[in-house]
Amino acid sequence: MPRKDQGADFTTSFAEARAKKKNYVSAAEYLRQQKLFSALEKTSQFLALETDINLILSRIAKTLCGALGAKYVNFWNFTLDKKGLYISAAAGMSKAYIKHSKENPIALGTAWVGRVVQTGTPWATSDVQKDPKLPSTWLPVVKKQNYHGVLCLPLIRKNEIIGGMCIYYKDTHEFGYFEMSLANIVANQAATAASNAVLFNDLLTEKNKTFATIQSLKEGLIMYDLDGKVVLFNSRAEEILWLKAKDVVGQTINEGIKKDAYWENLYNIKNLVQEEYAYKEYSTTGPQKLILEVTNIPVRSQYVKIGYLNILRDITKEKEIELLKSRFVSVASHQLRTPLTAVKWSLDSLLKEELGSINEKQKQLMAKVYKTNDYLIKLVNDLLDMSQIEEGKFGYDFKLGNIEDLVLKIFEDFKINAQKRSIIFEMEKSDEILPEISFDAEKLGIAIRNIIDNSIKYTLPGGSVKISLRLGEGKRSLLLLIEDSGIGIPQEDQKFIFVKFFRARNAIKLETNGSGLGLYITKEIIEKHNGAILYESKENKGSTFILQFPLDSDKMPKSLSIE
Ligand code: ADP
Repeated sequence: MPRKDQGADFTTSFAEARAKKKNYVSAAEYLRQQKLFSALEKTSQFLALETDINLILSRIAKTLCGALGAKYVNFWNFTLDKKGLYISAAAGMSKAYIKHSKENPIALGTAWVGRVVQTGTPWATSDVQKDPKLPSTWLPVVKKQNYHGVLCLPLIRKNEIIGGMCIYYKDTHEFGYFEMSLANIVANQAATAASNAVLFNDLLTEKNKTFATIQSLKEGLIMYDLDGKVVLFNSRAEEILWLKAKDVVGQTINEGIKKDAYWENLYNIKNLVQEEYAYKEYSTTGPQKLILEVTNIPVRSQYVKIGYLNILRDITKEKEIELLKSRFVSVASHQLRTPLTAVKWSLDSLLKEELGSINEKQKQLMAKVYKTNDYLIKLVNDLLDMSQIEEGKFGYDFKLGNIEDLVLKIFEDFKINAQKRSIIFEMEKSDEILPEISFDAEKLGIAIRNIIDNSIKYTLPGGSVKISLRLGEGKRSLLLLIEDSGIGIPQEDQKFIFVKFFRARNAIKLETNGSGLGLYITKEIIEKHNGAILYESKENKGSTFILQFPLDSDKMPKSLSIE
């Protein structure tokens, strides 16, 4: 006898079932309930252990099907366009049927599962073959598959319907309260598992993407945790350091790790840069000679530091090219300097009429040649200094002394030059007795000359250049100020003035001669004196350059040092 339809509204029938619920259950029913409980326990285990959603759902379906004694249990998933449903996992059903369902999805709103998923309302019937809403074309199929009782539940996750679950009985079947509650719990579990699996897969995809990116980087990457243990070592790091990730990851890089040249490199690199975001160069030991630029980057999770990264950039080629270029410039400059100096002295003698008198026109022409030759000598000297700085051969010999004498001498040297350009050129003597500082007179002379030369060069006739020496704030530093009322540096060009060969547009217009190397060399020299070069400038108003030297003996550069 077919039983009465349990109604299109599951909640009503759920209430009906609850009303019918007996306080005492028979021994047989008790055993069945125990079986269902253990099924529930099993399904929750899959959730905890598995992340493959299809596997989880297949196992849930199988367990539930067995425990209920149902013919089929299946899960329905949305098609990509969300307009249809297909069977994503099932127990008891043939593979061919599942495949058929994938190829011929059920339209949303059609038949029981389509309605349940569309409305989000569970639905149960004791005999689906008597369901008036069953499409007529379906009846033969249902009959052929031979099932009657059907319970269908939506899978809901955070108010979103993500699919459906159906239970099919071979015979007519009146769904009891306990069974329905259990099916409901399983459906909820399945929904949770499905969304967790999506989340997990998204995370996995992200992780794989990040891993692929890290592996394909041109830079070597070593990540350490806070205990100094390597947690990541990418392919490029393997190539650079000739070590294998499988040997390195998990190792704490400490003194004891220095087994050979390769491990020693790793140890040295880890201890090379301590400051965050700072970088240093490192030349590898062992058969593969590389020059690396090692950067130290902190790794943070939210606000907490969880480790740090060493980024290794192979700069061997760049360094080689730089060295070759520097050598070429160095050799060429050396070769040029001697003849240019010879020309200078010859012209000097001619101009002084040591070899006989010359007329005014000849004198004027020779003075022009003399000036051009002087410019060439300055250019050659700048190039030579630049190449020595780049090659690390710009040696310093620091001695304690009074800088005022040096500045005064340079001031005297520039007087004629300033006078020729009708520039008011003065030096303000300090009222205080200035303390001695540690400096290399030859190198610092180059720096000071560059700044004074610029202030005269970039000031129009009638303008002024003023030099002064004084103590800085708190008497902690000594300041050399060179102020001019010249053309100034355009605001947008100010950030480039220490870059090699850079010259601002207004400077080129006023003075075609200039290498753009003076400030680069000056900055290098001042920094080697542990000092700083500061400036303030306004276009068409003038510039003030300040050279600042430390007075604290701890901060003063010490003795002879070759860079
Ligand atoms: P150079 O003087 O040979 O061009 P520098 O390296 O000495 O090269 O200076 C770089 C640039 O900085 C100059 O070309 C000029 O544009 C700007 N500059 C430097 N000093 C001054 C100054 N006192 N007044 C105006 N511009 C200056």
